[in-house]
Amino acid sequence: MSYASLNRIVVDLEALRANFALLRERLAPGAGVLAVVKSDAYGHGLVPVARALAEAGAWGLGVSEVEEAVRLREAGLRCPVVLLSGLVPEAAEEVVHHGLLPGVTDRATLDALEGAAARADRAVPVHVKVDTGMGRLGFMPGELAELAAARADRWPHLRFEGLYTHLAAADDPADPLNREQIHRFREALELAEAAGWRPGLRHVVNSAGLLHFPEAHFDLARPGIALYGAHPGPVDPDLPLRPVMAVTSRIISVRDVPAGWPVSYGHAFVADRPTRVAVIPVGYDDGYLRRLSPGARVLVRGRPSPVIGRVCMKALMADVTDVAGAAPGDEAVLLGRQGRYDIRIEELADRAGTISYELLCLLGRRNQRIYR
Ligand code: PLP
Repeated sequence: MSYASLNRIVVDLEALRANFALLRERLAPGAGVLAVVKSDAYGHGLVPVARALAEAGAWGLGVSEVEEAVRLREAGLRCPVVLLSGLVPEAAEEVVHHGLLPGVTDRATLDALEGAAARADRAVPVHVKVDTGMGRLGFMPGELAELAAARADRWPHLRFEGLYTHLAAADDPADPLNREQIHRFREALELAEAAGWRPGLRHVVNSAGLLHFPEAHFDLARPGIALYGAHPGPVDPDLPLRPVMAVTSRIISVRDVPAGWPVSYGHAFVADRPTRVAVIPVGYDDGYLRRLSPGARVLVRGRPSPVIGRVCMKALMADVTDVAGAAPGDEAVLLGRQGRYDIRIEELADRAGTISYELLCLLGRRNQRIYR
């Protein structure tokens, strides 16, 4: 048996559904959920998560890559699958063939989609992305009038169904950029409408925007991180999001070292007392970042145990001196709950100087997933 088989990513689909329901309760009446499942559902596994969200009532699913969208179709998911991050014009045929819903960020892609739609003799829906201040992808708001006016003549096989934008600072609701972006979105909308195009599906907010800017819910909200149970900004005790991912492993060795003995690379940790060291076969290759030590804890027999010494590629060490009976084979929880304690992704991300998004993607990438 390889050590890797001791490691598990446990994905709690019930928690995912509960988070979905919680967010939906906060949505403006009539607005739907375009659930963001890009990057392998933030490390939770694309297809099972997408299926659970579609069954729970998501209007559609949002991804970044055509390959992920095609995987959803091949898994039998028939709801709208939106390519949120634009696409290269060469992907147009595939998009039309699989009935995907392209978010469009430039004219070259509109032209390519028009060609593909004409050849397939289909009306292809598109959502136009406008850059209101994220500075990443999209048409400038001022371009909307011309685009809207030209659409029927220049792109007759495309059905201009949606208009959307992405907030750059919604995790800080006090940042004035939020209201500026919402204002610019409304201006772009007015330009489009004045030129005869009334988009039926307008969408602006991510998780943080959904929670803080109800005036910008429009027709769809696009939550990602909150579905997975992580708070998009500072942890809000009034928002009972349930963590969806847990990471567990098993102790492979327990050793007693004397005071003065170094542990792991660079002897960054030296025992200051006789210390019982548990070795756990998870390292930075598994997304457990090197920066997590010193400071992070793992749970063994219901007790928080400090991670000591440098995290290695395939192992980390924990101080289990105070954990009575700790032994090889014991479960070690690196993320999630054991007994009274809960290690949350926000805590780990903070410890590593990063954000929950990054850590979830990395932790979810490597080990076998178990769904419950
Ligand atoms: N919409 C777009 C265009 C995105 O790129 C993302 C993710 O980055 C989201 C929505 C979801 O954001 P969050 O995970 O912060 O809810």
